[in-house]
Amino acid sequence: SALVAGAIGGLSEVLGDVQRAAGATERLLELLAAESPIQSPDIPRTLPPPTGQGASLTLEDVTFHYPSRPLTMALDHVSIAIRPGETIAVVGPSGAGKTTLFQLLLRFYDPQQGRITLDGVDIRELALTELRNATGIVPQDSVTFSANALENIRYGKPGASDDEVIAAARLAAAHEFIEKLPGGYQSFLGERGVRLSGGQRQRIAIARAMLKNPPLLLLDEATSALDAESERLVQGALEAAMQGRTTLIIAHRLATVQRADRIIVMEEGRIVETGTHADLVAKGGLYAHLAALQFHAMA
Ligand code: ADP
Ligand code: MG
Repeated sequence: SALVAGAIGGLSEVLGDVQRAAGATERLLELLAAESPIQSPDIPRTLPPPTGQGASLTLEDVTFHYPSRPLTMALDHVSIAIRPGETIAVVGPSGAGKTTLFQLLLRFYDPQQGRITLDGVDIRELALTELRNATGIVPQDSVTFSANALENIRYGKPGASDDEVIAAARLAAAHEFIEKLPGGYQSFLGERGVRLSGGQRQRIAIARAMLKNPPLLLLDEATSALDAESERLVQGALEAAMQGRTTLIIAHRLATVQRADRIIVMEEGRIVETGTHADLVAKGGLYAHLAALQFHAMA
């Protein structure tokens, strides 16, 4: 499918925190948390038992500026209600607040105003570990670590059995290529190990996220072009990954926005349009403008 880099989705980048969260060990997360003003409540509430249909998620009048930039509203009175199982594409120019939205959902920061709820519970009332275990993250540029394939995927859920890791790899369309590596699941990856293609690294990252079986999935779609075969496999893996979950995607690909249940268009920290691809093209607003630029660039 066509790559829609640039205007649609902006030149967005995964912030370091999101990337680190995807790969961090529990211990590293604890160390990071100890330094942060973001703390677990003394007496946390717990999420209701998973339904297998995904979580509901709301942002209620969320306003946020980064502590270092009090005059720039990174999110400005943002309200969204997302139903269990919905797939939402988030698009908008660079600086619109897309990555910030993910940072707040993971509670790397708290909003100055408003609240975020997951299955009806204010996320500030949840233990940080419960929130982050409930949330799978697939960052834009997935990395592998200096460890074998099994351990690379197990990062998603320390303590998972080999069988669980392999089941996640199958779901993410990673099993087949891993088995074909010279050492199979024991093959050493990372800079000094087997070099994987971009599409293969993405499928490892999807497998890592799948291992948690999270009700909420956050995807920051890669902007880089993949070869056609990788592209097909990654798209297939993502579709499988979204089943039975609520998914937010910072989207760069036309195929993704066309398939989303709803598109949220952001600009300067605000939601300026929502609707399906067809709705928004017909409306002739910012989305239609971004899409037209992009189609022109692709022609
Ligand atoms: P997008 O992902 O849509 O490109 P961001 O969420 O990264 O947008 O940025 C939204 C706004 O917040 C921008 O004005 C950006 O400059 C600012 N911003 C992003 N990250 C930080 C940060 N760590 N510290 C201060 N300002 C930031
Ligand atoms: Mg971004």
